Amino acid sequence: MPRMLKHQTVIHWFRRDLRLTDNTALHSASAASSFVVPVYVVSPWAGRHRWTGPVRQEFLCGALASLERNIAAAGGTLIFRRGQAADELIKLVKETGAGAVFTNRDPDPHGRALEEQLAKTLAAVGVEFHACKDSVLHDRAELLTGSGTPFRVFTPYNKVWQARPKAQPLPAVKSIRTPAGIASLPCPDLKTWGLSPSGAALPEAGEHAARQRLKRALNLILPRYGEQRNAPFGQTTSRLSVDLRHGTLGIREIYHFAAGLLAESKDATVRKSVQTWLNEIAWREFYMQILWHWPNVLEHEFDPKFRGLPWEYDEAKLQRWKDGLTGFPIVDAGMRELRATGFMHNRLRMITAMFLTKDLHLDWRLGEEYFMQTLVDGEVASNNGGWQWSAGTGADAAPYFRIQNPWSQTKSYDPEGQYIRRWVPELKDAPQSALLAPPEGLFRVSKDYPLPIVNHHEERDRTLAMFARHKERQMG
Ligand SMILES: Cc1cc2nc3c(=O)[nH]c(=O)nc-3n(C[C@H](O)[C@H](O)[C@H](O)COP(=O)(O)OP(=O)(O)OC[C@H]3O[C@@H](n4cnc5c(N)ncnc54)[C@H](O)[C@@H]3O)c2cc1C
Repeated sequence: MPRMLKHQTVIHWFRRDLRLTDNTALHSASAASSFVVPVYVVSPWAGRHRWTGPVRQEFLCGALASLERNIAAAGGTLIFRRGQAADELIKLVKETGAGAVFTNRDPDPHGRALEEQLAKTLAAVGVEFHACKDSVLHDRAELLTGSGTPFRVFTPYNKVWQARPKAQPLPAVKSIRTPAGIASLPCPDLKTWGLSPSGAALPEAGEHAARQRLKRALNLILPRYGEQRNAPFGQTTSRLSVDLRHGTLGIREIYHFAAGLLAESKDATVRKSVQTWLNEIAWREFYMQILWHWPNVLEHEFDPKFRGLPWEYDEAKLQRWKDGLTGFPIVDAGMRELRATGFMHNRLRMITAMFLTKDLHLDWRLGEEYFMQTLVDGEVASNNGGWQWSAGTGADAAPYFRIQNPWSQTKSYDPEGQYIRRWVPELKDAPQSALLAPPEGLFRVSKDYPLPIVNHHEERDRTLAMFARHKERQMG
């Protein structure tokens, strides 16, 4: 007997889930109806955006083009519309007579507000709205402390996160039937937002390329992740953040591959490495639940006692930091890797963020915004979490008095200077000793490379004094 389907036509609204495999809402949409209208609503802004830039938009365009081809291969048509998502979706519902709209939930406050608005508007016209959990294994208030409050500290959160059963990955949607004759814009490109290419060498976009990255990560990176992950030279980490951000891979698929490796391996080093990596996956969800419970972290310090610190705003210093011209080789290498590739190793994200806040005393929000505009994996929750961690103001952050010394960080993580020399060509022939300590007096390491913008020890003392004064003011 043929399957009785609830709806003749439904809409699947793609957002940060640009794939056919292990896609919760798409899977449900296909099961609910004979006809699925897959749609992507292109955001209407043009020019400058506080939270994104050419790098991530370029990757997004590549991922959408790949998705369009994959949907066509499955028999369907990806529809592109441009405007405010709620308006465009309502129009599409009317045009197609769809009985339901399916989407995967967005963890950011902006996406959450949109979902709430859409749910009301669709309910008013009798259309179902299904917003599914997809981009995380555990979200919102799913994991709480014993007393029912949200977690503020990672270790107990991680304990509960690791112990909870995890959903299995869903199979790929193999066949999509889209009603004919629905108007669509072309797949967007950078010109859509009035942007020019950044010139950064980005990873290949799309589900196929993402799965290749996953295989490489599992076979070559995860088994040695524990020993290598802090070394920034070469590929020592999975580089899957870009796929988690755009949803070119499903988190369930990623998790179960890694959990499978953990279960099968008899090698203690491999097991420890994979477990360490799974802890990082939990950090991502820790920050997402922080953002869910405390959306005001996007404006304020998570910890109220650090609100109102006298951060500085110095355009010239900020620009030298962005350009990788601070005269601190490790900091400059990180900033230049970011500009050249849209990616920066985690150790470097910590070093450059701590340098901006603790050595230059600039407001962490300036760095947060720049990272969002330039990172191909720019993720609001993790980026905010990382910046507030580095500024010493966040949930489970580095205590403000633990200030990393860029020179000692170089000794620990790039002792031979391979990473620095890779990204700062002016220092290619500099002696190793020159990368590990500030130059004496006005001696330049290379004629083309600037002297350090500040003296780390002096700025460290200034930062400690700034925090101490702030504490005193609060107490008095
Ligand atoms: C200042 C600062 C800003 C950051 N901004 C972002 C951002 O915009 N987007 C982003 O995805 N990550 C961000 N991170 C976290 C981390 O640096 C990246 O997730 C990581 O470098 C991505 O590389 P990978 O995929 O090879 O990671 P791996 O080391 O292979 O880790 C696997 C996955 O775990 C997650 N993860 C790892 N470390 C962290 C962490 N510290 N916090 C949250 N999740 C983590 C990521 O999803 C990552 O893909 C930031 C960290 C700092 C200190």
